Amino acid sequence: MSDRTKAASRSKRTQSSIKPVETAKGYEKRTIALVYDFDGTLSPKPMQEYGFLPAIGEDPAAFWAEVNRKAYEHEAEGLIVYMHLMYQKAKAAGVEIRRDDLVALGRGVELFKGVEAWFDEIENYIKLRAETAVSVRHYMISSGLKEIIEGTTIYPRFHNVFASEYFFEPYELPFPKRVITDTNKTQYLFRINKGVEDLRQSINSHMPEDQRPIPFANMVYFGDGDTDVPSMAVTRSNGGCAVAVHPPGGKQAKCQDLYRAKRVDFYAPADYRRGSDLFRRTCLLLDRILADIRVREEMWTLQSDAT
Ligand SMILES: [Mg+2]
Repeated sequence: MSDRTKAASRSKRTQSSIKPVETAKGYEKRTIALVYDFDGTLSPKPMQEYGFLPAIGEDPAAFWAEVNRKAYEHEAEGLIVYMHLMYQKAKAAGVEIRRDDLVALGRGVELFKGVEAWFDEIENYIKLRAETAVSVRHYMISSGLKEIIEGTTIYPRFHNVFASEYFFEPYELPFPKRVITDTNKTQYLFRINKGVEDLRQSINSHMPEDQRPIPFANMVYFGDGDTDVPSMAVTRSNGGCAVAVHPPGGKQAKCQDLYRAKRVDFYAPADYRRGSDLFRRTCLLLDRILADIRVREEMWTLQSDAT
């Protein structure tokens, strides 16, 4: 790096640490982020059960029981065990499943009612209700497989998808490239919050609140169970909202536990159609977020005038 470049980058750094990002163009924190878990939240069953496990002749209940048993026996991370075991079993069954095959399996993954139309419906609702320009982004953070998610019909609706992933090339068996556990899901919430979505960039450097492009207050996290607790807790303790879903017509006990423990603002059956309880309750949270954005913008204007 030349001295001139160093000086330029130093002065850029100094400037950005003094001036809040809004000063140049007006109040900018008008992006709402809706963040979803996948298995059990957008889709009724774990994604591996729709194509992968049938393809290798595995019974899902037996497979997950073996994952749990091995993880317990070896004190291993369950997610690494499942990623390893999937391919060990495929190899034993003489079935070769490449990256493209996993993507193709995504087409067979079932989604809850209304999920496909949900993205447009929510965006239309925000357009209708927002009095100033507000945009919405959808994100997914899943312990499931990025490759399978890429094959689902809803993949293009996401601004970004953070999920577990394999290396395929250099190993006899595909090897985990990224494993997203319950607790490290929260890293991705901070990536959304700080606008650091390039996974090659470190997320740990300090960034003052006023420089973070999507405040937690503009976020809603959707999940279905215990594996979402860290994400729900991080979102809510930083001023955002969380919603739990349960299978329509199925057990609500987990959601009720989460609600009683104040992990979530609302819970509802995973029916994403317009007019459903989930749609209505999400819209209530969006109304509050839209009002908050206007309040913060007004305060920001006063503060700019007062300084
Ligand atoms: Mg889930």
